[in-house]
Amino acid sequence: VKGDDPKLSPAAGRRLSQYLRVLRGDRGAGTVSSESLAKSVGVSAAQVRRDLASLGHLGQRGVGYDVTLLADAIRHTLGIHREWRAVLIGVGNLARALLRYRGFAEQGFHIVGLFDADPAKIGTSLERLSIEPMENLVKRVQDLQAELAILTIPSDAAAAIAETLATAGIRGILNFAPTLIRTPATTTIPIVSVDLAIQIEQLAFQVQARSGARVVE
Ligand code: NAD
Repeated sequence: VKGDDPKLSPAAGRRLSQYLRVLRGDRGAGTVSSESLAKSVGVSAAQVRRDLASLGHLGQRGVGYDVTLLADAIRHTLGIHREWRAVLIGVGNLARALLRYRGFAEQGFHIVGLFDADPAKIGTSLERLSIEPMENLVKRVQDLQAELAILTIPSDAAAAIAETLATAGIRGILNFAPTLIRTPATTTIPIVSVDLAIQIEQLAFQVQARSGARVVE
């Protein structure tokens, strides 16, 4: 298994996550075909075969892919066969919902530190973690051996905090603030932004495109 193929694009990475979702639902099945994966995800069978060929020799013509082997290979390639430690910055409404979400831990993502700028929150606990002040962030990132950071802070603070995190040694950021973060240090690490406003704008756009006279496909 070529577990760390640097040539895989972010788009291919997203498709691998989607294939893995399908395989989780197929656990009982011994094998799966590229056609059935393609149908479930909404891409061509040729695309599936190209994506999976980059993982090594996993499929047999006429037989398909072994579900267990394929799921393991995808997990290795995505880097989710291992545990990841993350700090969370900005312990407000969204953070509280994320902290209650069991899916992160089930997938090997562990939130190991909470940080906030609000003095009223510092020292209080959530999910057995004590909220720490921002002054401790850089030192604690190292103590906690955190590699990832989740940003659930207002937009105006996001870029500066991302810059601090990148210089503190954080290797990747999941950003929930609806702003694009580009600062000198963050250009060296991956940032994935979850912008729900953009998602709903895209939904409105697609619904409008279908119902309007000018349908562009
Ligand atoms: P919130 O106000 O409930 O929480 C924000 C937290 O960040 C607070 O605890 C605040 O003290 C802390 N904070 C503010 N400035 C800080 C700084 N400089 N350093 C450290 N901590 C700081 O807000 P929320 O609803 O949880 O939203 C957080 C972010 O996620 C926002 O950018 C928001 O736009 C985005 N978002 C929220 C939702 C949602 O459903 N709540 C959905 C999508 C996106």
